[in-house]
Amino acid sequence: MAAAAFDQAHADPDPVAAAEARTFYEFLVPIVKGFSTEMSLEVTSLGVQVHGGMGFIEETGAAQYYRDARILTIYEGTTAIQANDLIGRKTARDGGRSALAILARVRATVTELKQSETLAAIATRLEQACDALEHAIVFIAGAAKSDPRAVYAGSVPYLMLSGVVLSGWQMGRAALAATHQLAAGEGDATFLRTKLGTVRFFADHILTRASGLAETVVEGSAGTLAIEEANF
Ligand SMILES: Cc1cc2nc3c(=O)[nH]c(=O)nc-3n(C[C@H](O)[C@H](O)[C@H](O)COP(=O)(O)OP(=O)(O)OC[C@H]3O[C@@H](n4cnc5c(N)ncnc54)[C@H](O)[C@@H]3O)c2cc1C
Repeated sequence: MAAAAFDQAHADPDPVAAAEARTFYEFLVPIVKGFSTEMSLEVTSLGVQVHGGMGFIEETGAAQYYRDARILTIYEGTTAIQANDLIGRKTARDGGRSALAILARVRATVTELKQSETLAAIATRLEQACDALEHAIVFIAGAAKSDPRAVYAGSVPYLMLSGVVLSGWQMGRAALAATHQLAAGEGDATFLRTKLGTVRFFADHILTRASGLAETVVEGSAGTLAIEEANF
């Protein structure tokens, strides 16, 4: 999606659509670099875990993936720097306008999901996650000038929150596509049903992280700033 937005920003003859695509692409860059690389650590760590002791031993190859992933959150510019970019230049600077416009696109998918009875549970999770992200964006836009330390203290949780919600959006779109194909009798039915299962899993197990992350963004600065700089 980021690559498509980048292409559209360069090639769309409509200057308004091209500008929108650029804004969308620029919002996605820190998420692609920061959130995706953080998640690669979680995924490759699980990869070691499911192999048990053998996962930790070199012969399975699982540990190699984990070690290779460990550099990604550093050489993609570092998670904290990507998070500062997302919360500062990409969210606070325009008063949250771009972030809320992107969120409106996610909510449009929620509306589509709600039209299908079998996708209602996924719609509910995605909607709750959207509410959480909106809560964080409104806080960031409102406090960026008056209390910037409190806002930036939540930058990494905000990066992860945005990544979770936008990933859930893509999963929701995948569920819609799979449902349409199944109804039309097209494609590989086993693959499509499994896709619906993975989307449901993502909704119930990953999207539910959004509310906790939003609370951390909005309420979490006291703990982060509790220790005076001189005492580090
Ligand atoms: C194997 C490898 C390949 C690389 N390849 C490339 C490449 O091809 N091109 C390229 O341009 N660079 C490359 N790099 C460099 C990479 O971009 C840097 O390592 C990275 O930007 C982090 O800089 P640093 O290592 O100096 O860490 P530091 O800047 O010292 O950061 C240390 C920690 O402090 C945090 N931190 C720093 N400043 C802040 C801040 N203001 N707010 C909050 N937290 C902060 C960081 O997030 C990080 O966790 C590569 C690095 C490695 C190890």
